[in-house]
Amino acid sequence: MSKTVFALWILFLHSLTFTVCANSLALPLPSEDDINLQPWQSYQTILALKPSFEDSSESEQLTLLIRLAQAENLLYFYEDFDKTVDKFESFITPKTSAKLSSKSYLYAGMVAQRKGEYANAIVLFKKSMSQATDANLNRIFVYAKQELAYTRSLTELYETSLTGLQEAYLKAYAMDDQYLIGLIYETYGAIYGFMSEYEKSIEYHHKSLDVFKKLNYRAHIADATYGLATTYRYWGKYDLAISYFQDYQSLISYSPNADLSFYSAYGLGMTLAEKKDCQQALVYIKQALDMNGIHDYNAELNKRKASCLIQLKQLPLAEQALKEAESINASLPELKGTKWDLETVKIRGDLAFAKGEPELAYQLNNQYYRDYIDLLLKNSSARLVNVRAAMELERQNVEYVLLEQRNKVQALLVEQQQQKNLIQGYIIAIALFIIAVVFIALMVQWRNKNRILALSIRDSLSGLYNRRYIFEYLDNFLAKATPEKTELTVVMIDIDDFKQLNDVYGHPFGDQVIKVVAEISKETLRIEDIIGRIGGEEFLCVLPRLSVEQCDIIVNRIRENINQHVFTTDQNESVNITVSMGVASINEHCLDTVSLYAHVDKALYQAKNSGKNCVVHYQQQWSSFEL
Ligand code: GH3
Ligand code: MG
Ligand code: MG
Repeated sequence: MSKTVFALWILFLHSLTFTVCANSLALPLPSEDDINLQPWQSYQTILALKPSFEDSSESEQLTLLIRLAQAENLLYFYEDFDKTVDKFESFITPKTSAKLSSKSYLYAGMVAQRKGEYANAIVLFKKSMSQATDANLNRIFVYAKQELAYTRSLTELYETSLTGLQEAYLKAYAMDDQYLIGLIYETYGAIYGFMSEYEKSIEYHHKSLDVFKKLNYRAHIADATYGLATTYRYWGKYDLAISYFQDYQSLISYSPNADLSFYSAYGLGMTLAEKKDCQQALVYIKQALDMNGIHDYNAELNKRKASCLIQLKQLPLAEQALKEAESINASLPELKGTKWDLETVKIRGDLAFAKGEPELAYQLNNQYYRDYIDLLLKNSSARLVNVRAAMELERQNVEYVLLEQRNKVQALLVEQQQQKNLIQGYIIAIALFIIAVVFIALMVQWRNKNRILALSIRDSLSGLYNRRYIFEYLDNFLAKATPEKTELTVVMIDIDDFKQLNDVYGHPFGDQVIKVVAEISKETLRIEDIIGRIGGEEFLCVLPRLSVEQCDIIVNRIRENINQHVFTTDQNESVNITVSMGVASINEHCLDTVSLYAHVDKALYQAKNSGKNCVVHYQQQWSSFEL
């Protein structure tokens, strides 16, 4: 191995080791669970990893952004959270996995929800849910459903939101996902708080707190504690509220975000003021206002500050705080006419009274209570409308389910009917087939029978009736015959010197002669006459309803026609033949087949003896002597 090749080989191995080391040194991206357990540390790890992800695939970058958003949300870094979620959009392509896109929509929905864009939030949560459904991502689905329910409660659709939340809870329970169960409990707590059902709200916040304590999710423990404090505050149980706000104050150490301290100072200041512990309240109110937290929260703080200052007879400062509150409210048009806005009128009345202006105080108080009652009425009717809307939504859902079921049933019925028709069709087709087969079989049988019958009564060479048939016919006819009323003549035809023909021209020629004699005889007879071949070259004709004279004409015509026919032999020789014929009729002495046949035979014998080629009628007198 040359030195250069060896050097290159070493270089390659070195680079390989370096790559492996670089990869193993890279920090893993904190998991969702890591972030819930250690939001701040995870957040810092994610930020540290961010530059190394810049060349990664879009899905890897999106995964990092989603984790970052999760951490920012937990740490209450809302501005950063919004910006991170904004970036999602540029990473979502049709190729993005359902898992990532459904999570992206979920966070985007949470941003919209916090900004008060509820309609948009609902659309985004639904998008997240549908993507999650397609990919069977139950966790994200339930998370989004829970957020959707919470959003609905913010628009005061409490019934709808509770129904949705119940569905989410059942799914989370089925999955035994403690994190989702904790989140759902927290949302239940918040919604029941909005509905002024404080006992239930406290119960759920406690449940949520228990779950998160078991999971050791610090941000969520703090949130649940804050929920408890807020509900107790609205319930008027100020000492409990203060105690939980103080707990909250110590729990928020998980995040360096000053906004969290603002919430605790705000909660304590407001509760103490409501408890009329003004000295202490003013300390926390000042703390909160100094932090300059959330704009509309500042208005509330200023209102409480004004009330406390009135109580403490520091009227100019009270005036200043109240003005501050009024100007903040004026800058927020959505607050106009709300309970929060009306309260400034009440405080202004209190201030006027403290200033010794009872007339103005009375007027302002009056205005406050009038507006407040109006607001309550409006809210209660609005609540009714909402209840109705929720019920309508529920009704539509039920209707939809029923409709779907009905369609399914109808589709089944149609299918059933189609199958029935098909079966009926098959049955008809099979029946027709069987009928056709039976018909054909019957036809074949009938034809065979006819053929057998025809064969049984016909002579195969001449095509005329055979001996058996012609004698049966005669028997039947004579059985009904009476000599007075019935006329019947029989004629026997015998070819002359047929033996000789056979001998000279051969048997096939003889057969040909038999066929032609049969044809000529048949054609010459009437339709009602019957002719059969009764022996080798002998034929018997039965001619009913004819006198002997009439019969003679026909018989002679047969004989003449045969005489005139010219046969051609194989050697092209022309041959003429002759026939002898015996004729006999029935009479009172002869009324049976045997006698009649004997008579006609005798007549034929006579014809042969008379030189052949002639017709001889049976004479009655022959019976008295032997021929
Ligand atoms: P006669 O004039 O006295 O009637 O004489 P004949 O020769 O016609 O009568 P005979 O009874 O002596 O001969 C009849 C012959 O007919 C004998 C027999 O071989 C022949 N024959 C019988 N049946 C058939 C047949 O089906 N085909 C042919 N070719 N010949 C037949
Ligand atoms: Mg004969
Ligand atoms: Mg003959």
